[in-house]
Amino acid sequence: MKIWLDGELVDETQAKISVFDHGLLYGDGVFEGLRFYNRRVFRLEEHIDRLFASAKAILLKMSWSREDVCRHVLETIRANDLDDGYVRLVVTRGTGGLGLNPHLCEKPSMFIIASTITLYPEECYREGMAVATCATRRPAPGALMPQVKSLNYLNNVMAKVEAIQAGAMEGVMLNEQGYVAECTGDNLFLIRDGVLCTPPVSDGALDGITRRVILELADQLDVPVREASLTRYDIFTADECFLTGSAAEVIPVASLDGREIGNACPGPFSERFLAAFRELTQTSGTPID
Ligand code: PMP
Repeated sequence: MKIWLDGELVDETQAKISVFDHGLLYGDGVFEGLRFYNRRVFRLEEHIDRLFASAKAILLKMSWSREDVCRHVLETIRANDLDDGYVRLVVTRGTGGLGLNPHLCEKPSMFIIASTITLYPEECYREGMAVATCATRRPAPGALMPQVKSLNYLNNVMAKVEAIQAGAMEGVMLNEQGYVAECTGDNLFLIRDGVLCTPPVSDGALDGITRRVILELADQLDVPVREASLTRYDIFTADECFLTGSAAEVIPVASLDGREIGNACPGPFSERFLAAFRELTQTSGTPID
């Protein structure tokens, strides 16, 4: 596998980062996860815009233009000769001293991995997935801004462990007020009385690109949308629930904490959104060639 690292495509065995990199020492950096389908990258510019916004929010000065980064993503996919897959794009603060001060880091490092991915087994998409509520909370916006897709994922990792220990594949994370924020790596939607509901980003959700796509599709499918705070009660009593993410795509949720959601999984709305999403991924995007 070829990895793009600081301007060069190198073999994965040669793709190495310093132990003094602040991305490793402090989780000081930002990242993106993108998908490509049929040799086209889905929502490339939106991902790169979010990367630059995340970098700006943490005062990380990018050494590359948006156009450069887009070009390097395409180069990496081409170098690995893949038609469909996943791209992980990471920008770290770079090599510095052992202290926290990011101004002492020389320059950021960027690496791009293009690979295949199967996040959840296929039957989850057909029959729905079990999710569990995690004890670990989303940090308050005053602690770690939820919009910033930073390398600081330890609270999500701990929450994921709790979900797995509860026998689920994904975990629902609440914010400090007890409202649903999102899942450990996905945004959450539910359907109640024909209305698509999702927590606002201000409740601690990442401004997911797939979340945005679902909101656009809701408009096209004439499904009314309500962005409002949700509790576990709202999920327990919803007609349908599904999760979204670049890696997970659109995945129906069968149960929360062992309690079945709605009557059938996937429900009719989830199926419509999943089909419309798949159609879009197969027919749009930035060509790789
Ligand atoms: N929430 C979190 C915490 C995530 O890490 C992700 C991305 N894996 C998402 C939501 C979904 O975002 P996107 O649709 O942009 O991939």
